[in-house]
Amino acid sequence: MTLWRRNWSRPASPDPVKRPSLYQALRKEIPAIRQQGEPPAKDPASFGRYRCDLCNASFPLQELRQCVICGRWADDNCWTPGYYVCNSCHGIIQLHQK
Ligand SMILES: [Zn+2]
Ligand SMILES: [Zn+2]
Repeated sequence: MTLWRRNWSRPASPDPVKRPSLYQALRKEIPAIRQQGEPPAKDPASFGRYRCDLCNASFPLQELRQCVICGRWADDNCWTPGYYVCNSCHGIIQLHQK
């Protein structure tokens, strides 16, 4: 039996972050649910799968990405690629941009 291992390397950082001041403001406004680099929650029901922090469905690790603001892990459906954040934080970004 091979132990299932993986480096918890962080995904490539967003490059470039277009408005760093916006991200800083959001980090103050939105409480971090998880620390950056903290792994997602394991799904106890299925080996090698992890939970999306937004919809609670389970996914293989490579399908989850960590939000740079709140630290939650999100799957494709709960993710906003252009900002490198989860949909929840993206909603707040949009409020700021109005
Ligand atoms: Zn999800
Ligand atoms: Zn987020």
